[in-house]
Parts: sequence; structure tokens; C-alpha cells
Amino acid sequence: MSNYLTLFVEIILPLPIRGSFTYRIPQDLIGKAEIGRRAVVQFGKSKIYSGIILNIHDKIPEKYEVKYILDVIDDEPIVNIKQLEFWKWISEYYMCNLGDVMQAALPSAMKLSSETLISIHPDFDGDITDLNPKELIIANACSDNENVKISDIGKLLEVQKVMPIIKNLIQKKVIQVIELLTDNYKPKIIKYIRLAQQYQNSEFLLKELLDKLSNSQRTYKQMMFLMNFLRLSNGNINESIEEKLLYENPEISKSSLKTLIEKEVLEMHEQVVSRLDSSVLSSMLVENIQYSEAQKNAINDIDHHLTEKSTSLLFGVTGSGKTEIYIHFIQKAIQKGEQVLFLLPEIALTSQIVNRLRSFFGSKVGVYHSKFNEFEKVEIWNAVQNKKKGILNQYSIILGARSSIFLPFSNLGLIIIDEEHDVSYKQFDPSPRYHARDSALLLAQMHGAKTILGSATPSVESYYQAKHNKYGLHVLSERFGNAVLPEVIVVDLKEQQRNKLMKSHYSSVLMKHIAEALERKEQVILFQNRRGFSSRIECEDCHYTIPCKSCDVTMTYHKKSSILKCHYCGYSVEIPKQCPVCGSIKLSSKGFGTEKIESDLEIYFPEARIVRMDYDTTRSKNSYQQIIHDFENHKVDILIGTQMVTKGLDFDSVSVVGIISADNLINFPDFRAFERSYQLMAQVSGRAGRKDIPGKVIIQSYNPSHIVLNLVKENLYDEMFRLQTDERNKFSYPPFVRMIKISVKHVDFQVVNKAASTLAKMIEKSTLLKVIGPEFPLIGRIKNMYIKDIIIKLPKSQRQVLLKNIINATIEQFEAIQDYKSCRISKDVDPY
Ligand code: ADP
Ligand code: ZN
Ligand code: ZN
Repeated sequence: MSNYLTLFVEIILPLPIRGSFTYRIPQDLIGKAEIGRRAVVQFGKSKIYSGIILNIHDKIPEKYEVKYILDVIDDEPIVNIKQLEFWKWISEYYMCNLGDVMQAALPSAMKLSSETLISIHPDFDGDITDLNPKELIIANACSDNENVKISDIGKLLEVQKVMPIIKNLIQKKVIQVIELLTDNYKPKIIKYIRLAQQYQNSEFLLKELLDKLSNSQRTYKQMMFLMNFLRLSNGNINESIEEKLLYENPEISKSSLKTLIEKEVLEMHEQVVSRLDSSVLSSMLVENIQYSEAQKNAINDIDHHLTEKSTSLLFGVTGSGKTEIYIHFIQKAIQKGEQVLFLLPEIALTSQIVNRLRSFFGSKVGVYHSKFNEFEKVEIWNAVQNKKKGILNQYSIILGARSSIFLPFSNLGLIIIDEEHDVSYKQFDPSPRYHARDSALLLAQMHGAKTILGSATPSVESYYQAKHNKYGLHVLSERFGNAVLPEVIVVDLKEQQRNKLMKSHYSSVLMKHIAEALERKEQVILFQNRRGFSSRIECEDCHYTIPCKSCDVTMTYHKKSSILKCHYCGYSVEIPKQCPVCGSIKLSSKGFGTEKIESDLEIYFPEARIVRMDYDTTRSKNSYQQIIHDFENHKVDILIGTQMVTKGLDFDSVSVVGIISADNLINFPDFRAFERSYQLMAQVSGRAGRKDIPGKVIIQSYNPSHIVLNLVKENLYDEMFRLQTDERNKFSYPPFVRMIKISVKHVDFQVVNKAASTLAKMIEKSTLLKVIGPEFPLIGRIKNMYIKDIIIKLPKSQRQVLLKNIINATIEQFEAIQDYKSCRISKDVDPY
């Protein structure tokens, strides 16, 4: 009977199309098709994809003809049921496609399609004895060409049968998936050289050999090679030496090694090392933390909260020792055999925290973020999954940026969300526009895990929840040890200018404090929320500034590379010689960014060692680590940076922090600007005076009496919170309502205008809610597309899911209107 049962699968494909796709399972694959495994399917006329099996059922689809799945790639699920539930939640809550979630969640090497490019793995040694005939054909095709499209291989073999073979070859490390955007990775195999057994056993034989080799001109080089080998092994003839170390001596040649191996004097052996560096020096291991009284109270309190509630907020001022408190709870969770996820908003932070965690938990700690290449991502994925054989690392603690919420956890016990207020937790583009903190709270709920949120400046949303008893709350208001919070000095730039005390953009107060700090061999951090050299190039005669050709923004001047660059689309041009409007050659730079500050300070403080940390200087994978490491080890006196320097970093000898221009933070037209500027300034201030030396923070402003500056100066978080909640309550903003932003984009200005107002009216009608807009956002055109935003405010009492469904359906109706088919719509739930 069961032989006649027709089964179908729902497949998630990595495409920006709603929902999942139904396929039929052929009889011979019925046993293999399982939820979470990858199936190979045809989509459209010619494309072949590997999609994830979401569901298996026997409901015959009515609307259309169903194709068969072509094959199943995996022998076991690569995505577990909890993950799939989580993907579904994200797609529903954030109103995005399941395929978008799959795109964000899976490393590229796990998403094969006919368009995927593959090539020979650089570590593949050419040994083909293990390969079957089909694998050989593929390996061959790859070795003849640089990159090969999977569909081209499909032409050589039967197309649907290719994917599983490719998967095997990837696992065997014969081929790799090309990701054009990633770094090259470290070698995976280390070659070692040792003496052949007979010489290891007998020094006498070895001596005899050396004598013989030194007798002849012809074998002299071999003798040198051996001597070099023995020197490196310190005379220990049983030792293995890494091959590449042997060549550090320029007189040593590779050909001698070859000869000596042929003569069976030396042998080569290889060792596979994990690409994931989780090394830890055993001397670094710390056994015990002596907690302060305040920390002990915090631990007891949080422990108590977490018996009743699933989430606790640790509101501890900068330097209060929150990390050590997290460590206590991590320890507790892993002793119970649970997995722990430690989220950080910024990759820059992971390098410091990972050292602190590894000194407790050693190689149990794995790191995951977007700067890893695809191969490393897959390895971490497998290490978290924890069940495949031959995995070198098994992680129970993952430290990661926002995308690590997608790892294949099976048994999460604890999620720590450090710097929970941070905006970087929200993904702006592309879809899924998820908030990693909010999503992690749901993830915790699915696993029955506990969550600790930590911040020195909690988000208004989280503090509101804590105040209303949804979360536990513990406040730590003193720094750890003898450290005290820094003194904040607000400098009035108007007055400085009146009295001619400014040097370029720097007040005499700031200059004096920098000079004194350098004198005392202490360090300085300067914060400016803008990268590049100046913000723009302006014509002195007609005040023309040069706009991007595809966006409505002025291009930013980058001096070192001598270009104007658009920070929205990446387009860049050379600096024009004359004004394109009036022809004047008097072009000057206006405003200033981090690069300008760097070059100014090099002039004012020629002795100081200065480093800049911003988007432009941290492109490669280890650049953050390098900068932070150099600063920690006092190889750098002044660190200049964008928001990257404001967050959680812990340095011992920073005594002065300067905020170069506070005004552009405060004057941002957004309902969160007040909160965010408070957080930013308080956070960057928090980098000063963290250990024995007291810290000073210099804030420069043309508007020194602004209330936010006063709140930062007096450290009045609660007052900030009160003012903000009053205001947001009055004008209906989160946390009192939920917001959804719908953006309509089109290359034609007129079309965008008409489309957006049509859509706004349709939504008002279907939801019975009043919408705001459509309005042009701050930047009304990006990458040649005009943008208009519609904001929907959902009252908290309303039924979210229902309303979102109605909005989705309305948008679908809108998209079906002939005139608007070419509009692009994006949805952003809880926009930032
Ligand atoms: P926060 O994250 O709250 O800003 P940190 O956790 O970075 O603070 O702690 C500030 C500094 O105090 C760090 O250098 C940390 O190593 C140190 N510290 C905190 N608690 C302890 C402790 N119990 N014993 C020793 N050092 C501690
Ligand atoms: Zn001009
Ligand atoms: Zn642009």
C-alpha cells in the first residue's frame, strides 16, 4: 500500500520570493527526503538549486503541476527543526521571505545552485586515489579552468546528479565554492620533516652519513640541509620540524630536501590543523575570579530573577565588571551541558572579549562573524552542530556578531546580549531586516534558555520592560576596583572661537588635555562620527558641492586616495580641477572626518603614534585585532575612530577621551536621536579611566547647554529615560507602539510619488490605521532609485500577526496593479 503513497515536500529556496515551494518525492528518494536536508530541485526553466526541506506531506497541490525533486544531497539534516521554526518566526515577524532568511542564515558553501562557482581547493594535494570516476570528471573540469559553474559541470554529467557529488568533493576538500568577496584563508595542512627511523635510532649512522655527504662537492648542499635541520631540532634527532622553517635559512634549497627524501634520510608527514584559531596558552588560563561585593550581589540577584523570569537586564556602568559576571553564568550553563551564545554588536569587540573568555573556557569558545570566509563559517557551523565525525573543534560557547543567532544550536541554555542597546544589532539591508537582540529573545524562548541583557546605557525599550517587571533588573552603579567614572567637560566652541582659542577644529581645552596625557605617557581616544577627510569639497565662489551621480548625497572627500566617494553606493570619482558649475578653481574642503583629524594631529603632535580605526582602515579580517592589540600594548598613543571606538573596549591607560563634534549627533532628525546620542557619548566616555588613572572626557559643542550634554555630564540615565518615555508616549513612538516602515522605490520620481500615495491609502483602508507619510527619507534617492517611506504605527493592543497579514495582502494587491509592477517595495519592522 505505502508504495502507492505520493509524498510532497515543501522546499525553501534561497530566492526573494514568498513562501516555500512544493515538489514531489520520487519513490527512490522517499527514505532520503527528511526535514532539514538539502534537496536538488529545478526552479524555472533552467536553474537548479539546492533547497532545504521544510516539510513533508501528502496534500496534492491544486494550482499547478508539481515537479519531482531531483535528488537529496545530505545523509542527515544540516538544519535542525528549531532552526526552521526560528526562520519561520523571523520571516513572519519581519515580514520577509523565508528564502531571504535562508540566504542570511546559511554560509554560501551550503547553498549550491547551478550558478555557483567552484574551483580546486588550494590545499588539495592532487591525490586522486580516493575519487570515483564521476568525482574525477569534476575534479578534472575544475583543474583545467580557474572557476567552473556548476551548470557547466552538469553538461558533462547528468545535471541533477551533480550536486551530491559536489557536496562530497567539498567535504573531501578537493574543491571549494568560490565566494568572490572573501579573503583567502590560512593553509589547512602543515608539512613536517623528520629523520627516517633508522637515523632516529642511531646517532652513529647519522654521523657517518654526514661525513659521507660532506666529502663530496655534489652532496655538500644536502649536508648543509641536514645540519640546518639538526640545528633547528636542537640536536634532538626525534624531533619533527615544520617544513617552511627550514627555508628561513636562504642557503637551503628545496631540491636538497627532495633528494634526501628519495634517499630515505628524511621523511615528510602532514598534520591537519583547524583553520579556526582557538588556541589558548595554558599559562593564560584563569581558574578563579575574586568577585567584589557588588558583583556578588549582582550574581545573586540575577540568579534569583532568572528562576522566575526568562530575561534579566544587567544595567552596569562602564567598567563595572559585567563581563566577569557573565562568566559566572556561562560557567554554570556549560557545567549543565548547555550551549551558550554570547552576542556582541561589533566585530571589533570580539577580539578583546574572546581573549577574556578563552582564558576561562579555553578552546570551548568559538567565534563567528561576517569577516570569516565561507570555509571557516562551515567549519564553525559543523563544530556547533557537534555531531559530525572528525570535527576538530567542538564549541559549547559561541561569541559572535548578529548573524551567529543562525548557527545550528540544539541545546541553548543561555544567551548573553552585551551592549544590548546597540544599533548595530539591527540589520538594515538586505532583508531580513532583523534585530538580533529581539530575535535572540525569541530563540531563547524556543530553547527554554535564559537571557542576560547587559548595558551601561540600556535601550529605552529594554529598560521599559525591566521597569514593568517583564525582565529582572540589577543596577551596578560603581566601577570595579578603584576606578571611578570620568569627569566630563563640555567645551563651548562659540566662546572658544570668539576668544580665538581654536586650532582648526580643536579647542584649547582638548589640546591641553591631549598634550598632558601624552606627557604622562597615557593614551587618548578621539571620536568623530564621520569617516573620510572632510565631509565635502565646496566651490568657494558658487558654493556648489559635488553630488553622487546616483544618490542624493554630497560625496565625501578621502584625501589619502585622493577621491570623492559616496558612502551610500560606493561610487567614487577623482577630485575635479575646477568647479563643474562656474569653472572656478577655488575648491576647498569643508567639514571633517576621521582621516582629517588623523592628519591634523600628526602635525600638532608629531611625536605621538596615531592610529585610525574606521570602516576604511578595517576592511581585512584581522585589521581590528591588530589595531586593538597595538593600542592595548601601548604601541599607539592616540586612537581616532568612528562609532567603532565607542563600544565596550577595555583599555587600561586611556585618560582622555575627546568627542570632536557632539552637535551632529544630537541634531539627527530621528525619534531615537536623543537616546542614541546619550548612549554614544556615555559609551565613548566610558573608555576613559577604567583602571588606576582617572579619566577626563572633553565634549566639544556649539550648543553646550543642550540637555543631552548635561545628562551625559551628570550621568543621569534615569532622567534621560524619563524624558524620552514621556515624549514617546505623547507622540506614539516605541515602546508604546510598534512601527513598520514600508519603502517604495522606483527610478522615476513621478512613479514613486503616485505609487507611494496609492499604497498609503490602500493600507489605511485595509488596516483602519492612520499611516504617516508617504515622505521622502533623509536621503531621497540611493543608487538611482527614488525612495518614499510610509510609516505604520501599530497600537500594542492590536493583533500583530493579523495586521501584518493584512498589510502583506495589501502590498500584494498593490504589486498587482499594472502601473506599479516595476516598483520595489521593502518592509522594515521595528525600523531604526
Ligand atoms: P564592563 O563590561 O562593565 O564595562 P568590564 O567587564 O570590562 O566592565 O570590567 C572592567 C575591568 O575590571 C576589566 O579590566 C576587568 O578585567 C576588571 N574586573 C572586573 N571584575 C573583576 C574581578 N572580579 N577581578 C578582577 N578584575 C575584574
Ligand atoms: Zn562654482
Ligand atoms: Zn551614491
